[in-house]
Amino acid sequence: MYDGKGVIILRTDVMGVGFDNLTKAEFIQRADEMLCQHQRGYCVTPNAEIVYEAIQDASFRELLNGASLVLPDGAGVILGAKILGTPMKEKVAGIEFGEEICKLLSERDGRLYLLGGKPGIAELAGEKLAQKYPGLVICGTADGYFKDETSVVQKINAANPDVVFVCLGAPKQERFMINHFEELNATLMLGLGGSLDGYAGVIQRAPKWMIRLSLEWLYRLIKEPKRLGRMMRLPKFVLICYKEKLRGKKNG
Ligand code: UDP
Repeated sequence: MYDGKGVIILRTDVMGVGFDNLTKAEFIQRADEMLCQHQRGYCVTPNAEIVYEAIQDASFRELLNGASLVLPDGAGVILGAKILGTPMKEKVAGIEFGEEICKLLSERDGRLYLLGGKPGIAELAGEKLAQKYPGLVICGTADGYFKDETSVVQKINAANPDVVFVCLGAPKQERFMINHFEELNATLMLGLGGSLDGYAGVIQRAPKWMIRLSLEWLYRLIKEPKRLGRMMRLPKFVLICYKEKLRGKKNG
């Protein structure tokens, strides 16, 4: 990643995915600089499940590593980095980062496009965000179950957003952002998974005490037991980190 002054900042490698080791405030500052300087880029928010996916899929890994900002979105990633001996500053949840971007945009009549979720969710999320952040312009919304990507891209460009929240789940959102990066003229695109469901209020975040104890994954599992299959990637990911650490010790 560049720091905006042309200096390259090295990323923290967690099983092949390079994360920006920044605090939430530092991520916001970088995003602010990118917006002010019209420096285009896309931003990804991988959790441990997504890193596990990327371990098996080199092309997906490349998409993540090609992002301008890579946020460690989950206690699992923070734990993995610690096991590997390269601890990171803090977890930065994509859903919180998205709200911070809304705040930045609201200070300058910035334009936000919301893409993703089931029909009606992006509109509802837009209404709630606009109420919460006066000055923020929700310039368009579309659900995430479209067939024709080209017409979605045209609709987004016609709305002329500064920022697009691309909330299609991984890896669909990352592929969308990179496949259409050249055609889309927004400054920033953020891949934010299920965040629109959160902003719309149809999915609640875990209580603060659970987030503090790094138990947000458990809350999501209780609320959505069908996630169990994908959540099994979390212990597998931790195990792989331990194996990698041991391998490193033997070789080093
Ligand atoms: N989604 C979508 N289009 C699709 C598949 C999923 O818009 O083709 C949406 C889905 O409605 C949900 C989000 O993408 O709002 C994925 O949420 P999830 O919590 O699974 O995201 P992640 O865990 O990847 O952040």
